[in-house]
Amino acid sequence: MRRCGKFLAAHDGKLSIRAADSADGKSIFIMGRMSRWVLAGSWPGRAGPRLSMRIRKGELVSEVSSFTIRLSFHGDLAFFLKSKAGNKIVERRLGEKTSVKDVIESCGVPHPEIDLILVKGQPVDFSHILEREQEIDVYPVQSQPTLFHENRLQAKGIDRFIADGHLGKLARDLRLLGFDVVYDRDAQDRQLLAVMEIDNRALLTRDRWLLMHKVVQHGYYPRSQDAAEQTIEVMRRFDLFSAIAPFTRCLRCNALLEKVEKAEVMEKLERLTRIHYEQFRRCTGCGQIYWPGSHFDKLRARIEGIRAMLAAESRSENQI
Ligand SMILES: [Zn+2]
Repeated sequence: MRRCGKFLAAHDGKLSIRAADSADGKSIFIMGRMSRWVLAGSWPGRAGPRLSMRIRKGELVSEVSSFTIRLSFHGDLAFFLKSKAGNKIVERRLGEKTSVKDVIESCGVPHPEIDLILVKGQPVDFSHILEREQEIDVYPVQSQPTLFHENRLQAKGIDRFIADGHLGKLARDLRLLGFDVVYDRDAQDRQLLAVMEIDNRALLTRDRWLLMHKVVQHGYYPRSQDAAEQTIEVMRRFDLFSAIAPFTRCLRCNALLEKVEKAEVMEKLERLTRIHYEQFRRCTGCGQIYWPGSHFDKLRARIEGIRAMLAAESRSENQI
């Protein structure tokens, strides 16, 4: 290990440090911000720019060669990769120590989509630091569930959600099935993140950069653009199949419905509704009254449609 030269100057917000004098008399400089040192010359006796350094109190304290990380993305994570050819392997060249989370997200895959990371076949968490060549396997949720079952990165049992403003139909479908989904068409990103944190909800969004935000613990990016397919995706991702409870939640405000006597709501009903219907539910939030009228048939058809898709999917999985 060689001592580095003293700090020389600050240029345009960047520090410049003379690292050493080369054999041909030229000085070698390392430039960068904070710990992000970039080699601006070549190191004598080495092939190519294979050196970066971290400096503390004017001394060279560590030396990390640039190195290559090879990531294999399993399951449907290739959805997020740029490769149109379905290639699931990505290589990243790094010049400094980097967390495995940052490297994975640099490939376009949001961390809430990752349930298991293996480095040299061993599980690590998102904070694991990469500092030399490695081969990494990255798995989505519910991929090979028996593999390192105890080392999964995503929490189980999440059943409360917040959907971004573009997923109104998904939010409505999930509420129809009885799931708790906060939705406001006009919500800003910071509002989504705030409610998500306070209520410990999973964020549903097709904005991958929002999903990569550091405060996001749980979340999902619906692959399909069809609301019914998105609904099934979310149910599969968060294992919600046993919790379906249709017609228990308000489609307008997300609050729970309660059974109510006809006499209690009589004055709010249209004349024909009073005549033809006997069973009513009322929203505990906004007061909206629900009864099994014509709109009810449409909603029931929607639920049956989703259930039929689920059954078809389950049959095809059993045949594999
Ligand atoms: Zn309501």
